Amino acid sequence: MSVYVDYASTTPFDKEIMEKVMAGADVFGNPSSIHRIGKDAKAKLQDHRTRIAESINAKPKEIIITSGATEANNLAIKGTAGRHEKPHMITTDIEHASVRTTYQNLSEQYDVTFLKASEDGLIDVEDLKDSLQSNTVLVSIMLVNNETGSIQPVYEIAKVLKDHQALFHIDAVQAFGHMEVDVEALRADMLTLSGHKIYGPKGIGMLYLREGTKLSAQITGGSHELSRRAGTENTMWVEALALAMEKADSDRARRSLKEMQLKERFLNELTAKEIPFEVNGDVNRQASHIVNLHFPWSEAEFLLTALDMTGIYVSAGSACNAGTVQPSHVIQAMYDDEERALKSIRFSFSHLMEEEDVLEIVSQLKAIYERLYGN
Ligand SMILES: *Cc1c(COP(=O)(O)O)cnc(C)c1O
Repeated sequence: MSVYVDYASTTPFDKEIMEKVMAGADVFGNPSSIHRIGKDAKAKLQDHRTRIAESINAKPKEIIITSGATEANNLAIKGTAGRHEKPHMITTDIEHASVRTTYQNLSEQYDVTFLKASEDGLIDVEDLKDSLQSNTVLVSIMLVNNETGSIQPVYEIAKVLKDHQALFHIDAVQAFGHMEVDVEALRADMLTLSGHKIYGPKGIGMLYLREGTKLSAQITGGSHELSRRAGTENTMWVEALALAMEKADSDRARRSLKEMQLKERFLNELTAKEIPFEVNGDVNRQASHIVNLHFPWSEAEFLLTALDMTGIYVSAGSACNAGTVQPSHVIQAMYDDEERALKSIRFSFSHLMEEEDVLEIVSQLKAIYERLYGN
């Protein structure tokens, strides 16, 4: 028996969606061509864009299709920074690498503030208030942290920013499909999503950009995407993204309930089997599908390898550190404790899993624990 429990890294591409997209592949035109074949493709693309927009309560022209969330985050940040002479920009020290690294690179040129998350995994809104300057042009804060599942106080943050010029960008990649993502309710100026985290394909994503908000394009060329992102649209994958978003949105209550039940069963079983662990962050303020555990009795690298050999597929944290087990920068930022960061593992669940899957994970963890410590 094998169990994949790493859905925050990526999700399998929904077969139903894949088949539907393949079935429409004969509409092959370039949406920018002005003949019939092009117009057919353009009409389809427009229809998909409308459905993407509706899933987050936005307008079709507010959607910029990108190659994924990494590109969308780069576009949001660099596209805002590039429009100002001496901007100040704020983010947090627990962001995904695509935000963190981009901010770090810009910090050589611009004034940048990284807000600190505390042990609960959350940033303090008072810190944000204190950090705002008259030249702050961007605040980029994720909704759900990809390593701990922590839900940032984005509604309060939006309230603070209401009377400030700074744009509010939200990386909502790990939130969509698990909790409500409504750009109006969130008062987001920009918002990022990715296809492959919601049972769509890899290599497609989007940036929501509020009507009237200006951004300098980072990929230049033709006037695609209203001149905000050049390049012929990947029409089939845009359809897949639209279908994945619609499905994730309409099935959200059922999916998140199932994830929550699996997570709870998992934690209860770990306790029952007397495997020592601590939850990283505040378990009551985390998304339904993610939990990050500190196992003081073993390095994550050893555990991951041992679990891999028994068919349990899980990560120490973000998959973005390309195949290496690095101490998680998120756990490190929260606890300022490198040992804890090296001994923590993220489990991320899916509605596709069953209770027997979580029991199998615990049973294998128990076997490893007993091998190490006898009984
Ligand atoms: C996966 C992820 C990304 C990157 O998405 P890609 O589409 O793989 O580029 C960005 N932010 C968060 C929070 C993620 O989990």
